Amino acid sequence: MPIRVLPPQQAARIAAGEVVERPASVVKELVDNALDAGAGSVTVEIRGGGLELIRVVDDGSGIPADEAPLAFQRFATSKLPADGSLDGITTLGFRGEALPSIASVAGVTLVTRTAEDSAGTLVELADGEIVRVSPQGSPPGTSVAVRGLFRSVPARLKFLRSANAESGRVQTVVQQFALAFPEVRFRLEVDGKGSFASPGRGSLRDACAAVYGAKLAGSLLEAASPDDLPPDAPRIHGLISPPDVSRSTRGQISLLVNRRWIQSRALTFALEEAYQGFLMERRHPLAVLHIEVSPQDVDVNVHPAKSEVRFRREREVFSILQRAVRGALVAQSPVPTVHSSLEPIARTGFARGPSTSAGFAGGPSSLSHEEQVRQAISMFAPEESPGQAMPRRQVTPMLRVIGQMQNLYIVADGPGGMYLVDQHAAHERVLYEKAQAEMAEQGAQVQGLLEPVVIDLSAAQEEALEEGLDKWLRYGFALKRFGPRSYLLRTVPASLRDSASDPEAAFLAVLEDVGAGAGTAEWEEKMAASIACHSAVRAGQTMRQEEMESLLAQLEACERPSTCPHGRPTMVHLSAAHLQREFGRR
Ligand code: ADP
Ligand code: MG
Repeated sequence: MPIRVLPPQQAARIAAGEVVERPASVVKELVDNALDAGAGSVTVEIRGGGLELIRVVDDGSGIPADEAPLAFQRFATSKLPADGSLDGITTLGFRGEALPSIASVAGVTLVTRTAEDSAGTLVELADGEIVRVSPQGSPPGTSVAVRGLFRSVPARLKFLRSANAESGRVQTVVQQFALAFPEVRFRLEVDGKGSFASPGRGSLRDACAAVYGAKLAGSLLEAASPDDLPPDAPRIHGLISPPDVSRSTRGQISLLVNRRWIQSRALTFALEEAYQGFLMERRHPLAVLHIEVSPQDVDVNVHPAKSEVRFRREREVFSILQRAVRGALVAQSPVPTVHSSLEPIARTGFARGPSTSAGFAGGPSSLSHEEQVRQAISMFAPEESPGQAMPRRQVTPMLRVIGQMQNLYIVADGPGGMYLVDQHAAHERVLYEKAQAEMAEQGAQVQGLLEPVVIDLSAAQEEALEEGLDKWLRYGFALKRFGPRSYLLRTVPASLRDSASDPEAAFLAVLEDVGAGAGTAEWEEKMAASIACHSAVRAGQTMRQEEMESLLAQLEACERPSTCPHGRPTMVHLSAAHLQREFGRR
């Protein structure tokens, strides 16, 4: 084919693909504009996952009547100085691409009015061309309605997921804005129903409460960089989860650079590294971190969607972030002191530094069982040759239960010395392997509910659930769609402890743990681990002698008795040799 220049309309559509990937990206661009216009209140309305309608209404500055049509011209922006300098950008937008891009792949109607103008202006576009400009009654501010998104680009439609899934993404975007701009009131309406609202009172904790619930928000720790940094140094402030709160994914880590929500593997890694020793393997923190850098020190013009940034002084940003987070964790929840040589039997097999602990792929530890045991042995009994103190078959040697300690640990006597078994972790391991065995055969044992329970889900929860109902069924949760974001729960796995008294809470707890991805190996593993965790005997629960004996016998029969499914040790060992030394017998 000969080389030719694309007709403008086609070129515009192709370029639009970079800015407007899906409904959520349209919402992001329109809300960016509302915030750049100084809005104190932003309402987002979507229908049909955003494909039918997206409307964003703000109470910001509005556009003067004579400039309104210009807003749709490519590279037309009011946000850059006349010399076009990209240094020191303080607005969210600056490329002048959003409105024309959106108009090239959807029908757009803009109504806008400044405080000075007595009437508003309506601008309507079809196929990227202005088809109407007329005066229109309107309150001060701007409203942009986008209809029939991607109707003219069927190829793009194919990449979208279900309407519910797209709505879920829009909700996530709006919630990130609420976290980035706690002083702005946000409201999201999905198919005519209110689905999210933030108070706009200016407190980050209040914004977090709107997104994550009051209880969780109340538990978050404040993290901040010190006050005495030089004026141009990066600054951090925000809220982070305490060590006893964690998540199974990184989905609740929000990084906001000069109020812009960004994705950054490097910063996420820095954050997780600061949690080292505070969180279990494969668990992730929740965090909302505002990072302020002087506009000259950050390049936001890396990608049209502006979700990636480049820092001029990257190392400095990392280290300030890590110090703020680490400082908050240490000050507000001191690490318990570990005495003498009491060491978990399998710790070394799992805490292998950042490369495994923050690996993005997840997946089980690559160490074989034997390797873990060998490492563990060398850790608590360095003076003995590996294998001698505790050969493989004796990882849980015939243990004699002595009693229960603090309703947390089973104290046991064994050939190698004294053992403390974490009752919950041990039971989790037993149930996890039992569940896996059951799944390999006929599926989980279920328990029917006398009355089905109606469960309302957030858009994000529904997205996680909707494509895997049959997989959930195999694990014992029979669910049926009941309405928009509403499901009927009919059965639960028989083993789940709380399922009798509160099946909804039991189900939601498991859903929170496993997240999306039904059917993948990682998901199956999380599912088995989650059910085991919520079924296992709790810490703090009194156990009878027979129960403890039976638990140890079952643990002994496990494939990998030395860790719970999350990688925590099930037992620690105090070797006879060590005791002898401590008592001066050797
Ligand atoms: P950019 O935001 O990069 O400047 P856009 O295409 O998103 O480019 O918008 C073009 C221009 O339209 C903006 O520079 C701004 O002047 C005006 N505009 C768009 N949306 C709004 C709004 N909600 N309120 C006020 N002005 C707006
Ligand atoms: Mg913009």
